[in-house]
Amino acid sequence: MSLTVLMNAGPWLSVPPPGYGGIENVIATLVPELRRLGVRVVLASVGDSTLPVDELVSVFPEGQFASLQRPYNQVCGVAQAHLAGVVRELHTRDDIDLVHDHVEAVGLATLTAMGADAPPVLHTLHWDLAKHPALYGTLDGGGRVRVNGVSASQLARAPQALRDHSVGHVHLSTPLAVDADRRPRPAKGDHVVVLGRINPGKGQDLGARLAHRVGFRLVLAGPVGPYHRPEDLAAAGEEARQNPDVRFFVEEVAPYVDGDLVRWVGTVAGRERDDLLATARVALFPLRWEEPGGTAVVESLALGTPVVGIARGCLPELVAHGRTGLLTADEEELGELVLAASVLDPDECRREAVARFTPAVMAERYLTLYERVRKLAATP
Ligand code: UDP
Repeated sequence: MSLTVLMNAGPWLSVPPPGYGGIENVIATLVPELRRLGVRVVLASVGDSTLPVDELVSVFPEGQFASLQRPYNQVCGVAQAHLAGVVRELHTRDDIDLVHDHVEAVGLATLTAMGADAPPVLHTLHWDLAKHPALYGTLDGGGRVRVNGVSASQLARAPQALRDHSVGHVHLSTPLAVDADRRPRPAKGDHVVVLGRINPGKGQDLGARLAHRVGFRLVLAGPVGPYHRPEDLAAAGEEARQNPDVRFFVEEVAPYVDGDLVRWVGTVAGRERDDLLATARVALFPLRWEEPGGTAVVESLALGTPVVGIARGCLPELVAHGRTGLLTADEEELGELVLAASVLDPDECRREAVARFTPAVMAERYLTLYERVRKLAATP
C-alpha cells in the first residue's frame, strides 16, 4: 500500500521558491525523491507553486512573503488562514497517512490541536532553537505529533519540550551531490570563499581579518541585509544602517574589504555561485553561531571544495576533520588551517557528498522517520 503524505510548505513562497527560500528549497528537493520511492504527495502551498506533485492544496493564489513585512497580527492572520485550509482538507478526507509540516511553531500548534483521529504529524525544525524556547513552549502532541531536526547539534540545543517529541535528525542535502564524483573537475583558483548571508553569526569579519593577517585572497559572497549588489548598498543612504546586518558589514567587515585581498561580490546565484565555490581552494565558515543545518557546507563538499571552519553547530557532523576539511574551536588558529587545507583531496569531498548528502539519501531517511512516527502514533 502506498503512503500518502500531506507536505505543508506554508503560505509564504511558491515551491520551488523564486529566489531566496531555504525551507521551500528543501521541500522542492525532497518531494521528487519521495515520489520516486512511491510516496503520494499532497502539497499544501500557494496556487502558483509549480513543483510536480500528486495534488496541490492552496488557500492563496500566490506567495504571501510580502506580508512578513507587515505587523505581527497580520502575519499570523495569513498563517492561520493557510492552516485553516490545511485542517479543513484533513477533515474532509481519510487518505492522508501523515502530515510533514514545515510551518514553524504556529503550524505545529494548529496541527497539535486537532483531535486524536487526525493523521500523525512530523514537524521539521529549521531554526537554531536555543534562541526561541517560548515559540514551542506549549507543544503537547501526545503520541501523534513528533519533530525532527536538521542536525544532531540543533536538536541537542532545542528546548526540552521538543526533545521529548523528537524522532531524530536528517541532514540537509543538495542536488549538487548527485554524481558529484563523476563531474568534470575545474582547476582550482587561489581564492578562499565565505558563502552566506553577511551576518555576525556567519563571522565574515573574522574571515576578513584573518585573510589580512595570514595573507590569502578572500571572496565574500552573499547579501548584506536587503542589498544583493555592492552598488545598491553604496547607493543606499545612512538609514540603511538601521538594518543590523548592514551595520555589521559597514562597521566590522568593510574596513577589511580592499577590493584586492578581500572582496565582497554580493549575492551569487546559479552557475556563477557554483563556479565560485568549485574553483575556491577552501570554503571558510568562521562561525560565531551554532549553524543549524549548513546547506552551504554540503554544497561546498559536493563541488569538491574542502571546508575550514569553527567547530560549532552542525559543522563537526558534516565535515570529517582531516579528510574533507579542518575544524578548530580557536579563532586565531583558523587562518593557519586555511593554508594547511591545501593537503586535502577535493575528490574525497565529492565522494563524501555522494555518500551522505544527495536528495535520495535525505528522502530515504525521511521515509524511515515517517514509519517511526506512524508506529509511535499507533501505539497507545
Ligand atoms: N546562497 C546563494 N548565494 C549567496 C549566498 C548564499 O545562493 O550569495 C545560498 C547558499 O548556496 C545556500 C543558502 O543560500 O544554499 C544558505 O543556506 P545555509 O543553510 O548555508 O544558511 P542560512 O542562510 O539558511 O543560515
